[in-house]
Parts: sequence; structure tokens; C-alpha cells
Amino acid sequence: MSRPSPDHRPSTTPSGRPRPSIPGSGLAKGLAVTLRTMTKKTVTEQYPDTQPELPPRSRGVIGLFEENCTVCMLCARECPDWCIYIDSHKETIPAATPGGRERSRNVLDRFAIDFSLCMYCGICIEVCPFDALFWSPEFEYAETDIRDLTHERDKLREWMWTVPAPPALDPGAEEPKELAAARKTAQKLAAQQQAAQEEPTAPAEPQEGES
Ligand code: SF4
Ligand code: SF4
Repeated sequence: MSRPSPDHRPSTTPSGRPRPSIPGSGLAKGLAVTLRTMTKKTVTEQYPDTQPELPPRSRGVIGLFEENCTVCMLCARECPDWCIYIDSHKETIPAATPGGRERSRNVLDRFAIDFSLCMYCGICIEVCPFDALFWSPEFEYAETDIRDLTHERDKLREWMWTVPAPPALDPGAEEPKELAAARKTAQKLAAQQQAAQEEPTAPAEPQEGES
């Protein structure tokens, strides 16, 4: 079966012969398309001369806030690509009070993500119970050597500077308990500092020979 031509006329005559085209009709159609496109708004972004306007929650790269990381290994275990590498050792913390118990804690030695394997699923960020991993919209970290796509902890920490601030809370929403705890600590410290400044200084001891 023959396909109808773009001008909706059959491309063949009833006898099955190709229908003769009007001279210059192809050129006119091409020019019409060009004119139509010229008057439309351009959607092409001139990257890299112009930076794209990405949504703030774009999945570009993962930042590590290592102070929050307890080396629980959940992210590495849940990563479907096994591209998170974590090394750690245990440290013993002496008892805080005489007769108290010693405690042990995990100390992070290595935290790396291989972005040549990562599929940006976000599972590691979702499962982290301590808010140590965050999405950053940064995406310009192409490398010529694939080994350089393994970002070690220092580089992952640097990405934290590019993580956007969380969206504002809804009006009337309950304040997150982390914020409340941080504000309480800051207020307590400020009160202590103010009290120390207001404390009267003891009069100087009279020197020998002074009357
Ligand atoms: S985003 Fe997905 S694939 Fe990438 S490191 Fe996290 S869990 Fe693994
Ligand atoms: S899940 Fe979070 S706290 Fe646990 S090892 Fe991964 S980054 Fe650290």
C-alpha cells in the first residue's frame, strides 16, 4: 500500500504511476518549515556558554556530611551497584566518670563513591538514618580518566557546599526537633557567655610597699 504524500494527495496516480510533482514544491515546503521555526521561541540551551536552569532537587552528585556519619554501613549495603566504599576502625573512649564503662565508636577511614557505576537512584540518601548524604545539582565533573570518577571523602565533602538549602516549612508546621535542639544549645551558650562577661572582676591584690 502506498503512503499518502505530506500534502494529503496520493503519491501515485490511479494507474499506479508516480504522480508528477509540481516544480519547486519541495523547496517551498522546506522554506515554509524554516519560516515557521524561525518565528517560534528557541528552546535549545547554549550550554556550556549558558548554564542550564536546573530544578533545585536535581540529582547531580552526592555530598557527604561526614560529621553525621556513624559508619553504620546501611548506604553501602543497600546500594544496588555496590559503588560505595567505606573503611573504618573502632576506637575506645575512656569512661567519663570513675568506675564508668568504656565505650567504643566507629571512626571513618574512607568513604568513597564511584560515580562511574552509580545510577543515581538515591537509595543511599533515602536509607541514611543520620542525614549524612545529600543530593547536589552539580553535574560538571566529567573526567577523561574513569578512575577519577571515584570521589573520596574530601571531594564528597566539598560537594556539600553546593547542596541547596531545604525548602521552607509550610506555615504553621512543627519545627524540626534538630533545629529546636540547636537553638536551645545556642541560647544556653549565649547566656553562659553573657553571665561570664557580667561577672564583676576581683579587685587587684595590693602590691608590697603600697599603702
Ligand atoms: S545513588 Fe544509588 S547507585 Fe548511586 S551510590 Fe547511591 S545507592 Fe548507589
Ligand atoms: S548510611 Fe549514612 S550514617 Fe550510615 S554509613 Fe552511610 S552515610 Fe554513614
